[in-house]
Amino acid sequence: MTVSATSAHDTIIGLEIHIQLNTFSKMFCGCRVEFGAAPNTNVCPVCLGLPGALPVVNQRAIELAVRAALALNCQLHLSSVFARKNYFYPDLPKGYQISQYDRPLATDGWLDFQENEGGGVGRVRIRRLHVEEDSGKSLHDRFAAKTAVDLNRAGVPLVEIVTEPDLRSPAAARAFLGQLKLALEYLEVSDCNMEEGSLRVDANVSVRPAGDSEFMTKTEVKNMNSFSQLEKALAYEAARHLRILRSGDQVEHQTMLWDPARGEARPMRGKEEVHDYRYFPEPDLPTLVVPEELVERLGGGLPEMPWQKERRFVADYGLPGYDARVLSSSRALADLFEAVARLRPDAKEASNWVMGEVLAAANDLGLTVERLGVDPKGLAEVIGLVAEGRLSHNLGRQVFRKMLETGKSAERVMEEEDLRLAGSAELEAWVREAIDGNPAEVERYRAGEEKLLAFFIGQVMRKSEGKADPARAREALVERLGKG
Ligand SMILES: [Zn+2]
Repeated sequence: MTVSATSAHDTIIGLEIHIQLNTFSKMFCGCRVEFGAAPNTNVCPVCLGLPGALPVVNQRAIELAVRAALALNCQLHLSSVFARKNYFYPDLPKGYQISQYDRPLATDGWLDFQENEGGGVGRVRIRRLHVEEDSGKSLHDRFAAKTAVDLNRAGVPLVEIVTEPDLRSPAAARAFLGQLKLALEYLEVSDCNMEEGSLRVDANVSVRPAGDSEFMTKTEVKNMNSFSQLEKALAYEAARHLRILRSGDQVEHQTMLWDPARGEARPMRGKEEVHDYRYFPEPDLPTLVVPEELVERLGGGLPEMPWQKERRFVADYGLPGYDARVLSSSRALADLFEAVARLRPDAKEASNWVMGEVLAAANDLGLTVERLGVDPKGLAEVIGLVAEGRLSHNLGRQVFRKMLETGKSAERVMEEEDLRLAGSAELEAWVREAIDGNPAEVERYRAGEEKLLAFFIGQVMRKSEGKADPARAREALVERLGKG
């Protein structure tokens, strides 16, 4: 197969995703899982690999893995087998990692995702999902010319999800990963925090002439620590393959390490790459049996998934698809919207406030929607005050912000901060000031330049510091200016 200099090409991408499960303790011992603890404080004979220590499976970790497998439409295997993956590395005290190999917990799933805004839906098949333990961490930057080892992470529960090579562009890979992350957050399987390493991705990349079905030699890309870096690294690697193939050479099968600072991928040294893990069944653990009743209970307890919520928001509340997608992009946001929508007659209005003012406040304060702690009743009250004309939208926004800061009710904030629409006497005064202060504009308006009305409304709003109701200001201005 050749790739000519001009022919179109497809990029073929498959992902291997490691996800830290949301448990209090490690996979095979009672040590705490805690990000940022002092090095080597959450360790015990089991996770340190001391002689004679025996692993015990963390039930909670298995439940979370089963939830993920069910939500990802996998075939769940009621019995699966732990295996030892043998290799030597300083952050792996036992000299092997307990993983699953030829009999994983789940296989043959799939997840649909939106390829791009307004675009088609893509499906990625999931080859396997298995449970394993994490390794420790080698720290190269703590001491000059020395490497330190922190074993707090050794034994932390993980699931590894391996997809089929179904993705066709770096952007699609990023979109799929976003959907997977959202699903796992909804399931409360993991917090999926990439900065803290609870979601890590490796990718297989190859390039072939458009329309071909045969696979070309792939390379593996590692060390992509954010969604945008993932997209950049994959684009870089695909372009490199294409250059090689177009020059008539062959791509070499190797592992590439992405360097985010330099924006390039470099081959890992050969020795680190060649693995012979000599997998064999873990003799210290029995076959992992997941009782059918547990699968039924967990299957019945799955939350409404983001894509289901999105469809329901359109069907039940008549929201535009865009609103439904933004609102279902986090469980907290979706829950807040629904709580407010139940208290207000107009769901689209509730959506506007949640997507607009709530997200803006979260953004300005650098908080997640959960942390922002919006009281749905309070927000519904503000929306009501604006709808009744007792507050302008602008005043409503100010009242809402003050409520977030102080935890006080809307009425109380309006009282204490004097945030209320002006009475007619005040409004008259501002209108008069706006007219008297701008004789040239008055003349032009009266000569037919009606668009200047917006200028006068602006003047009144500024003088009133937002306390004038724009609609009433407009009425008063039209009347007074008309009296010429
Ligand atoms: Zn331990």
